[in-house]
Amino acid sequence: MLYAKPGPVAREDMRISVFSMKRRDMERFEFGEFSVFPLLDGPLPTALDKIPDPEHRALAQELIEQVGSDALTMNVFAFLICGPSGKLLIDAGGGKLKGGQLGQVPQQLSALGISCVEIDAIFMTHLHVDHFGGLFDRDGTVFPNAEIVVFREEAQFWLDTPVADLPQRARRSVDAVRECMSLYQGRIRIAEAGEVVRQLRAVPAQGHSPGHCCWQLETGDRSLLAWGDLIHISHIHLPAPHIAFEYDLDPAEALASRRRILDRVADDGIVVAGAHLPSPGIGLIVRQGAAYAFRPGSDS
Ligand SMILES: [Zn+2]
Repeated sequence: MLYAKPGPVAREDMRISVFSMKRRDMERFEFGEFSVFPLLDGPLPTALDKIPDPEHRALAQELIEQVGSDALTMNVFAFLICGPSGKLLIDAGGGKLKGGQLGQVPQQLSALGISCVEIDAIFMTHLHVDHFGGLFDRDGTVFPNAEIVVFREEAQFWLDTPVADLPQRARRSVDAVRECMSLYQGRIRIAEAGEVVRQLRAVPAQGHSPGHCCWQLETGDRSLLAWGDLIHISHIHLPAPHIAFEYDLDPAEALASRRRILDRVADDGIVVAGAHLPSPGIGLIVRQGAAYAFRPGSDS
């Protein structure tokens, strides 16, 4: 079901709200008419035992030893995009549902002088808890005026598949996904591959989940592509992009998507925003032989 779109936000109004933000020291990136802000939801520890292949796990161990075990704690970022099509979020972080030290997106917004009620739309990269958990809490929806934009195949998998037909590990979180999405009932907007919603284009990158989707900001100028879990642990999956992770539902497809998107952004100089990238979560991907590296910031 489609939610009636809020009226267009006048460009003048948007400019005023962006420049009246309280915290000028928070990272901010400009893309044409859009300002993009990484919002750190918090740290999320993980472990090498999430790498199923023993040889790959040994290689990952070597890579981590070179940089220190802190590299096994992933960032969880959401991203705020302010522009002519409204105040938009890419993902919502894990929130209180995921627990630990996550749940800082509302405070991050507040530090920018923005309240959760002002968010017009939230674009989901996929429906894993560290990305959708921040959409709701015990009191209901955290973003009461937002439409939730979900790529069709992700919505179909989580919302339309009978529980008995879901893979075992998806059954653990399906109740939470359905509870969350029911709170936003009537405000879920389904996007097709290639469709542009509020100047964000759906770029499917399936494998990690059946409808894992990147969102590309269409500025007509510099481009920004946001992803969820194309890369999990940067110090492992960029230098060794052939290593799969336990949470990749279809590992072969996830690795093919990773290669395809990384090649494209590296070749075209597209700035990326990744939920689990090192701070500030926004930067460039450069080739290093058959592997890749992350360069923080948007200067080429
Ligand atoms: Zn994730």
